[in-house]
Amino acid sequence: MAAFQTTAVSTPRANHWLEPNWAEITAIANETSDVSTYWLKFVDPSMQANYSFKPGQFNMIHLPGFGEAAISISSDSGERDKIGHTIRFVGNVTRAVSRLKVGDVIGLRGPFGTSWPVEEMEGKDIFIASGGIGLPPLRPVIYHIMRNREKYGKVTLLYGARTARDLMYPSEYENWRQAGIDVEVSVDRSDANWPGRVGVVPMWFYQFRIDARKTVVLTCGPEIMIRFVIFEALARRIPLENIYVSLERNMKCGQGSCGHCQLGPYFVCKDGPVFRFDALQPYFNLEEF
Ligand SMILES: Cc1cc2nc3c(=O)[nH]c(=O)nc-3n(C[C@H](O)[C@H](O)[C@H](O)COP(=O)(O)OP(=O)(O)OC[C@H]3O[C@@H](n4cnc5c(N)ncnc54)[C@H](O)[C@@H]3O)c2cc1C
Repeated sequence: MAAFQTTAVSTPRANHWLEPNWAEITAIANETSDVSTYWLKFVDPSMQANYSFKPGQFNMIHLPGFGEAAISISSDSGERDKIGHTIRFVGNVTRAVSRLKVGDVIGLRGPFGTSWPVEEMEGKDIFIASGGIGLPPLRPVIYHIMRNREKYGKVTLLYGARTARDLMYPSEYENWRQAGIDVEVSVDRSDANWPGRVGVVPMWFYQFRIDARKTVVLTCGPEIMIRFVIFEALARRIPLENIYVSLERNMKCGQGSCGHCQLGPYFVCKDGPVFRFDALQPYFNLEEF
């Protein structure tokens, strides 16, 4: 163990919402040039055994000397022995994470936030529209559906990235397809080796046959993509209450105390990140959105 061991491996905290518990990096998978998935296991075995989360929730990743960042849990909520976080290296905390190695430890607070409505959407067709780093918070939904495939109707994942090199988890698509999920992938810019779709997610979304009465749409990605997916979904007469969106906002405390992530009457950390769109619609035109 290296970097953050000195302060990190202390007694596990009882209140995991306020103080971090320490988790060891057991593996690192490089997804793209600036995104990696970190597989973590709590140093305290009882903490690991008792930790659970719902698809769509996030942890605050804590690095002593650098601060904290909200990061979605990208692993299978049915797997109790490890926790996955897929992280893009963009700023202070995440760039510091990029320098960590297997065996280093990291602080985690959580899980926080609302989750995708995996139970409420049983019996429905599911349309997942996702872009870029918006796929990690939706991957636990995909795993949940795979484990409970008979409970859902037609399931489509439409996923887009800037280029083929920016796609998350490409080695998993075949498994997802074999589990009965229609995985449709598109890139904004192609090269001669790309055999698939080219164009942005909302553009392709328009082309799919959707039964508006029984389809639930889940969307996460760049806000411009979310905005156009929602416009298209509404144009297809999908009811507001069947559209769910996960939002990212700068946040600090993760538990609705500091107000950093406020959106209208909501705290994204506590009332979100997953919102049913009918709740969000009045604030949809706020400047930041
Ligand atoms: C619920 C939730 C889930 C998330 N899940 C993930 C996830 O799964 N994976 C992931 O990679 N990220 C995720 N994020 C985003 C992540 O929390 C942010 O990117 C976070 O800011 C990274 O922390 P950092 O300290 O590395 O970056 P920061 O130092 O906070 O910088 C982040 C970006 O913001 C810019 N920036 C910083 N300060 C300012 C400022 N004052 N004004 C304008 N721009 C500024 C930086 O240039 C950089 O581009 C999630 C966010 C939320 C809210």
